[in-house]
Amino acid sequence: MCLFCKIINGEIPSYKIYEDEYTLAFLDISQETKGHTLVLPKKHIKNVFELDDETAIHLTNAILKTISTLKTKLNFSNINILNNSGELAGQTVHHLHIHLIPQYEDDHFSFNHPQKEPNFEELEKLHKILLDK
Ligand code: AMP
Ligand code: ZN
Repeated sequence: MCLFCKIINGEIPSYKIYEDEYTLAFLDISQETKGHTLVLPKKHIKNVFELDDETAIHLTNAILKTISTLKTKLNFSNINILNNSGELAGQTVHHLHIHLIPQYEDDHFSFNHPQKEPNFEELEKLHKILLDK
């Protein structure tokens, strides 16, 4: 059984913030910023590539409810909502989870990715591929 399934089953303790029939949210053990929380479906889904529509709706609902709780209790008005799907994307626990990372003036999380110049030729080609033209 995976680590997060063990947390869902109560075999491993966690700091729960929100729970319903389909989802669970708990504090990330390593707080990128104050209130860094993980929201996940109770169903063992590996990553976003396995996510079905119904679970996505439950997950979205849980994300919004959890953000609301965090925002009421902690003093922030900016947040990142992140998901790593697959090892190249940085996924280390292979049970789908969404990171909620509040942003504060003095407690800031950054990806630090500089903006690239737009390449319209490449954009044109890519758009054709994606639209099957
Ligand atoms: P990811 O790299 O997107 O797969 O994120 C996995 C996250 O799970 C990391 O941010 C870890 O800090 C967090 N994590 C690992 N073990 C636990 C745990 N026992 N309780 C809470 N969070 C955990
Ligand atoms: Zn699992």
